[in-house]
Amino acid sequence: GSTITEFDTIAAISTPPGEGAISIIRLSGEEAVDVACRVFKGKNLSKVDSHTINYGHIIDPDKDNQEVDEVMVSVMRAPRTFTREDVIEINAHGGIVATNRILQLLLSNGARLAEPGEFTKRAFLNGRIDLSQAEAVMDLIRAKTDRSMQVALNQLDGNLSGLIRKIRKDIVDTLAQVEVNIDYPEYDAVEQMTTQLLLEQATNVQAHVAQLLKTAKQGKVLREGLATAIIGRPNVGKSSILNHLLHEDKAIVTEIAGTTRDVIEEYVNVHGVPLKLVDTAGIRDTEDVVEKIGVERSRAAIVKADLVMLVLNTNEPLTDEDRELIKITADKKRIVILNKTDLEQKLDPNDIASLIEPNEMIAVSVLKNLNMDLLEEKIAHLFFDEGIENNQTTVMVTNARHIGLLASASKSLQAVIDGVAMGMPVDIVQIDMTDAWDKLGEITGDSVQDDLLTELFSQFCLGK
Ligand code: GDP
Ligand code: ZN
Repeated sequence: GSTITEFDTIAAISTPPGEGAISIIRLSGEEAVDVACRVFKGKNLSKVDSHTINYGHIIDPDKDNQEVDEVMVSVMRAPRTFTREDVIEINAHGGIVATNRILQLLLSNGARLAEPGEFTKRAFLNGRIDLSQAEAVMDLIRAKTDRSMQVALNQLDGNLSGLIRKIRKDIVDTLAQVEVNIDYPEYDAVEQMTTQLLLEQATNVQAHVAQLLKTAKQGKVLREGLATAIIGRPNVGKSSILNHLLHEDKAIVTEIAGTTRDVIEEYVNVHGVPLKLVDTAGIRDTEDVVEKIGVERSRAAIVKADLVMLVLNTNEPLTDEDRELIKITADKKRIVILNKTDLEQKLDPNDIASLIEPNEMIAVSVLKNLNMDLLEEKIAHLFFDEGIENNQTTVMVTNARHIGLLASASKSLQAVIDGVAMGMPVDIVQIDMTDAWDKLGEITGDSVQDDLLTELFSQFCLGK
């Protein structure tokens, strides 16, 4: 494909759709300032200093300069901008209708509607950020808790890129050494040395890659939320537990553009682990509905869940339905909550001792708020060992594409290791080593194809 070097001027609304008090319409490109000037009444934007905010009105030049909205306009000239192009940001406050009208005015006065992710794509193509940083922007937009935001921010700083580049340099150094050695094929000792070097380096690099892949599982949880089902018979306390989690933990990031109210209601932040609650409708429905659907509904929720919280009522003896629920969740990551410990204890511990591991259980009283902190800690500790919890700067791989590339790099490295073991010629083994180098390069965008880029950036929200 071809690399585009000249860009037209693009525009989009960059705040999430909805009834926010302020909306931002963003312009980027060579003509950004000119386009803005055509629809702005106030200071002459082409004369103001860069990085200033200017008060005025958006007007409709086709309708006798009728005022559309009162605005603040930021003027940021290249190259110190996100896209490295001239950027204009119009802060409007007139609601959806006025915001859309401003965008329409920009489009009829020289700008083109931005494709999803096009601002970030330009930042990438103009060398402002690398690919993994571009993806971090996307993660940031979607970040659900403080911790996932920290991970995204680290990536934005280029921590992952830095690590990958270091690994790739090791590979290149090795390949260079191999090239030098190959120039002396007449010596057997050199051949021996070369394969040994490839083996050592492939093993070494593979260990680094494995380390990164290990973080991926936790990264996925941070990024997508941990699908969690709260199940149990009617009246055991499911709704109460759900409400406790919802009301005690309000530390969900709301300032990030693109986080909609629906999303907020769906997620609960438990010590930095975003729980994505599965099928809460079943819990919130009237009790008789839940009773009717009973175990069948639970089954469906269990299938979808990464974590199951099974609630038992210790104020009653164990029932057949409890036993069934214990049985069908046995293979799941689960926490069995023994609720209502404030009441008389009628659940015989011997009845559950053989069915549930002790470390899967926790006794609480939601009503009296007993041990609920411990429950939350237990949830968090299922997913973070101490090392990661206490180290906010850990590089985590959170992106599905990165995980895929790391996995196939690891495969190529394995091929190097196996090839050497089988006595393959150096030039064959070398191909696999180069392959690993290529795969890792795709993470940072140092070796990347055009259609991949288009595919990738189209996942961004419009206006980013
Ligand atoms: P669900 O049907 O499983 O969702 O159960 P609910 O959360 O609706 O609770 C059923 C009843 O048990 C309500 O009256 C709650 O107040 C009560 N309840 C829930 N947890 C406790 C607890 O820990 N102790 C006591 N004494 N009552 C509780
Ligand atoms: Zn309920």
